[in-house]
Amino acid sequence: MNTQKSKFAFEEAKKYIPGGVNSPVRAFSNVGDHPLFISRADGSRIFDIDGNEYIDYVGSWGPMLLGHAYKKVVEAVKAAAEGSPSFGAPCLDETRLAKCICDIVDGVELVRMVNSGTEATMSAIRLARGFTGRDIIVKFEGCYHGHSDSLLIKAGSGALTFGSASSAGVVAELAKYTLVLPYNDIGALEAAFSQMGEKIAGVIVEPVAGNMGVIPPADGFLRTIERLCRENGSVFIADEVMTGFRVSPSGAAGLYGIKPDIITFGKIIGGGLPVGAYGGRRDIMEYISPTGPVYQAGTLSGNPLAMAAGLAQLTELKENPHIYGKLEESGAYLEKGLTEAAEAACVDVRINRVGSMLSVFFTDVDVTDFNTACRSDAEKFKRYFNAMLRRGIYLAPSQFESVFISAAHTREDLDKTINAAYESMREI
Ligand SMILES: *Cc1c(COP(=O)(O)O)cnc(C)c1O
Repeated sequence: MNTQKSKFAFEEAKKYIPGGVNSPVRAFSNVGDHPLFISRADGSRIFDIDGNEYIDYVGSWGPMLLGHAYKKVVEAVKAAAEGSPSFGAPCLDETRLAKCICDIVDGVELVRMVNSGTEATMSAIRLARGFTGRDIIVKFEGCYHGHSDSLLIKAGSGALTFGSASSAGVVAELAKYTLVLPYNDIGALEAAFSQMGEKIAGVIVEPVAGNMGVIPPADGFLRTIERLCRENGSVFIADEVMTGFRVSPSGAAGLYGIKPDIITFGKIIGGGLPVGAYGGRRDIMEYISPTGPVYQAGTLSGNPLAMAAGLAQLTELKENPHIYGKLEESGAYLEKGLTEAAEAACVDVRINRVGSMLSVFFTDVDVTDFNTACRSDAEKFKRYFNAMLRRGIYLAPSQFESVFISAAHTREDLDKTINAAYESMREI
């Protein structure tokens, strides 16, 4: 496989862009010496600038649920662009997309559009703090909620000690207001609330963790968050930027039957354009400016191109609910194939999957939280990643990411992937 042009393009990019990329994981630092530069994508396939073709399981990190260059989405964007890319004034598609989200997701009564998942979660925790008049936010170790200061906090040394900044440049004092608990640990959650429940503004959680590899919620975990928030007057924020409209038509909230106060969205609702949103209970959402005292704004929020793309994608999903059955089927098929490939090669793996999200962990312990995820053999993953890439399978370049299956992946694509895994597992 020749990737000379990508190699050169990366050298060139590094001259003008920090690390050559606009989002760190794209640099392939954990798996190789240079990323692939992509020229185009279609359905389940992406093509690099050297002309190589791959079956894509990154799907732009989640948004491309219908596959790449989905015709109705592309047409909608083209039509919107003809009418000018931005007005900075209300347009009808904003209401249509908001209504579409409210119609599909139970409990979302009002929704505010922003430009990224980061903005959605940042705004949601500000809203939780403003609404409750409290400061403390609870998050879980290994969950990623974008890169706002309050959420770039890693766990402290003890169970109920406050965390510390996980990035330079975050004011150290801010860590005092973010409590980081182990994912799936109901006991830790109960202890935190019994100790400081009246100070907790809100709890933010990935209802299916996807940013430490895929980790499903343990029985009762989400329900306990919901109950403790209700009992203590705290705001329950489900960060569904990844899971929204993916793990079920109404996301993880629908799948697990929970009712968060606020849900954050991104990725899929933008159809590949930069969009985020947060929505939920009317009385809480009315706390946002201009109806309430919590300020939040955006020059390009509700952008006509982005709204058109999102609306086209969500409309397609709404009109074709069988897509979710197909995604589950494809996920189960791939999971079975990969499990058998690992067994045939005597490689210890744990495969976690929820619908079309899946991770292969190279470990012999069940992966249920950040600590167990970290037991995975990163060197083995690196060899697996490269062996798969050489066979035309494009996986996320990190052990701690999900495989994203789209509706465009065919049985033939999955079989090719499983065959590649049989060979790759033997090589590593
Ligand atoms: C991707 C992601 C974010 C951040 O979204 P951006 O659009 O990258 O800012 C937040 N939360 C979760 C769960 C995500 O997967």
